[in-house]
Amino acid sequence: MFSETTCNLGGGGSGGGGGAGGSSSPNNPDPINTAPTYTIPYEQNLIECLGLNSVENANLVVSNWINNPDNFIQVRKMSTFLSNKNCSEKAQAFVIASIEAIINGDLDEFNEDFYTWGVTKDDTFVNSELDCIYEKLKGGNLGNNFFNDMLFEFDQLTPLKFSIGPTPNPEDYAFTKGETTTIFGQTHASYEIISSPDAESASNLDKMVTLSHELMHAFMFKSLEDWGIVSFDNIGRPYLIENYDDMCQDDNLDEEININFLTMKERWVFLICEILENSDDPNNNQEWTHSLFNSPVFAIETYREKLEQELYNNHDWNSEPTDIKNLMIQHFGAFNWKQKVAEYMSWSGLHGTPEFANWLSTQTEYTSTLYPNPLDLWKEGVTEWWTQSNNINYVSNNCN
Ligand SMILES: [Zn+2]
Repeated sequence: MFSETTCNLGGGGSGGGGGAGGSSSPNNPDPINTAPTYTIPYEQNLIECLGLNSVENANLVVSNWINNPDNFIQVRKMSTFLSNKNCSEKAQAFVIASIEAIINGDLDEFNEDFYTWGVTKDDTFVNSELDCIYEKLKGGNLGNNFFNDMLFEFDQLTPLKFSIGPTPNPEDYAFTKGETTTIFGQTHASYEIISSPDAESASNLDKMVTLSHELMHAFMFKSLEDWGIVSFDNIGRPYLIENYDDMCQDDNLDEEININFLTMKERWVFLICEILENSDDPNNNQEWTHSLFNSPVFAIETYREKLEQELYNNHDWNSEPTDIKNLMIQHFGAFNWKQKVAEYMSWSGLHGTPEFANWLSTQTEYTSTLYPNPLDLWKEGVTEWWTQSNNINYVSNNCN
């Protein structure tokens, strides 16, 4: 783990001159003013950003490498690189991995180009309908960066690929596959979101749900794999490395705990333990990943809430046919129908969780003589219009 140091790579200990980083525009350097008149302590800045000066992160081998004058040019590159990345945790991990790879002889020199965004599209995905929806989600609007925030978790060392092809279980619309490989002598995971041809021919709204749902899995698996909580079986499905009894027996389930004071990792372990604890067979619960979709894994909102907002913001509601709009207006009223359909669709794929049953029980006010119980309303009254292939021609299904 890396400490959350806020480092000032530009200033360091050398006075308040602003320096290479800070708030001065690094992309538009003034060639005269940036010519150094004093030696910027790149080594010191690098060590501080990487938190190597703290006792718990001390790494003598890496520190010695940084302080070796032979490596000065690379240290300067790393220092500038981290400064441009605001010393983010991800950039720190990349620099540490690079130094270790150099020390091990797996890498000749620091190469910033390896740190490119690690999301790629397979040929099967490029220019597909799903690709079109993907680009819409990435573009986002109304300041919604949820989809992008998850995408940006991936990098060259832990890449994510989108493809279209058969899923391991033919009934699944999509599958997120995890795999571990060794790069530069270090183990890294890679991920693939495989959408089925059925997902490709689904409605626009369903495609959004599918891509977001799977990206959430990938984001979740990546975080959990980074923390050593999950690994992957030979199909690529995640499993918890420790069972409930081992993972959750200590203080993780202290009811007094305030999860806002926990690190991300502690918070997620706590939440997983809670999910397992509340299930019939804590050591054999297959739905924990889906229950996490409704746990506060982000600071306040759950994934499900974020997805609802994302669908509401990004879907082209006005392109839905009038007949369908009117049906939804009958259920939810003219003022509410877009938000409510977004809400109902956001539960797709999560119906196996206890949270879904709880949520359904709050929906009785929308039932009618046609759909007297909330499950029928959710299923036949709303979501099946966008998720059943025989309804595809009734809803908008052409991304453009
Ligand atoms: Zn899922």
